[in-house]
Amino acid sequence: MKFIADCMVGKLARWLRLLGFDVAYYSRIDDDELISLARKERRIILTRDHELLKKARRTKSLQKKTLLIENEHWEQQVEQVLDHFQLRQKVDPNSRCLECNHKLKFLPKSRAKNLVPPFVYEKADSFALCPSCGRVFWKGTHFRDMEKKLARFLK
Ligand SMILES: [Zn+2]
Repeated sequence: MKFIADCMVGKLARWLRLLGFDVAYYSRIDDDELISLARKERRIILTRDHELLKKARRTKSLQKKTLLIENEHWEQQVEQVLDHFQLRQKVDPNSRCLECNHKLKFLPKSRAKNLVPPFVYEKADSFALCPSCGRVFWKGTHFRDMEKKLARFLK
């Protein structure tokens, strides 16, 4: 199941990626472009925009592939998506690049040495590399806060 999120729900898009889901997101994209991408890549449209929704539903192949995001708070938005598509069993945290949506690859600690700052190398023990943009992700302190939030979604 793949998604495309409109410009108004960037935080939702990021969190869904963090949970491992494939979410296309562009901070600037017009409605027609978004709709055509959704069609081409068979993505479900997540939007808070009624106009966009109406437009999308005029396209036959997208009629059942839209979800109106009701709440303005991102936590409730994540809950809505997880519940609506029954995704809680499919959550795979930290498996996807937050920046470019590509699947991450596990990176052995020995190979991370020259790719991260020395203090990170010392403190962290789990690393992942994005083969698309080259970013390295690791489990650090900010990560623990995230994991607490994740745990709440998965309860
Ligand atoms: Zn990336």
